[in-house]
Amino acid sequence: MPVNTENKLCVRCVLPENFPGVRFNDEGVCIHCQQAPSAVDVLENVARLHREMVTAIEMNRGGRDYDCIVAYSGGKDSSYTLKVLTESFGLKCLAVTVDNGFMSEQARVNAKAVTEALGVDYQVFAPAWDFMSRMYKQSVDNSELHSKAAIKRASAVCNSCIGLVNVYMIRLALMHGVKLIAGGYIGGQVPKDTAILELNLDFYLKTREATMERYESSFGEDTRKYFDVPQELLQSSQMSKLTILNPMLALNVAEEEIIAQLAPLGWKQTIDTGVNSSNCRLNDFGIAMHYNTHGFNPYVFEISEQVRHGLMTREVALKKALSIPSLNDVQWQAKRLGVEIACAE
Ligand SMILES: [Zn+2]
Repeated sequence: MPVNTENKLCVRCVLPENFPGVRFNDEGVCIHCQQAPSAVDVLENVARLHREMVTAIEMNRGGRDYDCIVAYSGGKDSSYTLKVLTESFGLKCLAVTVDNGFMSEQARVNAKAVTEALGVDYQVFAPAWDFMSRMYKQSVDNSELHSKAAIKRASAVCNSCIGLVNVYMIRLALMHGVKLIAGGYIGGQVPKDTAILELNLDFYLKTREATMERYESSFGEDTRKYFDVPQELLQSSQMSKLTILNPMLALNVAEEEIIAQLAPLGWKQTIDTGVNSSNCRLNDFGIAMHYNTHGFNPYVFEISEQVRHGLMTREVALKKALSIPSLNDVQWQAKRLGVEIACAE
């Protein structure tokens, strides 16, 4: 795939000069690195988030059947999240995978192995392919679908998928009377300090109508089935808020350590998901389309944040940030979606 590697990159992290809002000083250091907290401050912040997470968990554990719904992709970060919540916090988790039609076979095997090893209930939800393929196609075609802030952190196809997953988790939490939802997001994928979020459901439902209308006009039939939280469900649950946890932000653990800790559970690296995903075979397609539209890798902010937090060397980060999705893979993904792509070799 055509990738512009001519952009100047920050000499400390790997943010390119064409990343939205980035500026460099005379030494070639980007604004995010210039403003980055010291290593000590990063650790203190992580420790503070951890204390806050412990409090939030203690206040909200104890649902009917489960303490926590975990958005579980079978990838390394959500596998680690599930392990920590189950083993370290003793939470009764329901792990839930949304199978988007592009799940790696190895990720399926991993999800089964990890949930079995942890003794966790596991559920797979596979939305109709007709809707999923339409959603992905429209996400590529409609560059105005997601906010400018959202496209800094993920590709259009990922943003749509994450939106669908989040709504499904909220629905499940309401159905099961569970007050905690957890995801495996890491630093850079979601804004800083979102290790614990309180979601006021009334406010959430009122403010999401505009997004819903935008999605509905793009994705068409059945959009509300996948993206709406029905008022009746909210009323019958008698819940007014949910607590969303992103435990990885309060743990600050490096990729090698995560993989080492997951190995005894039977988790193995995938080989068909590109360098930036450990569960999804559509990921490289999202990256390639994002490059074409915006000129930068949608993972580059996350990768640069890992470097700033001392969790990844710049060398590894460079490899990840400049990795080019294989043309064969992207063509396979495009074909499966029925998307025409112009492929300059
Ligand atoms: Zn930088």
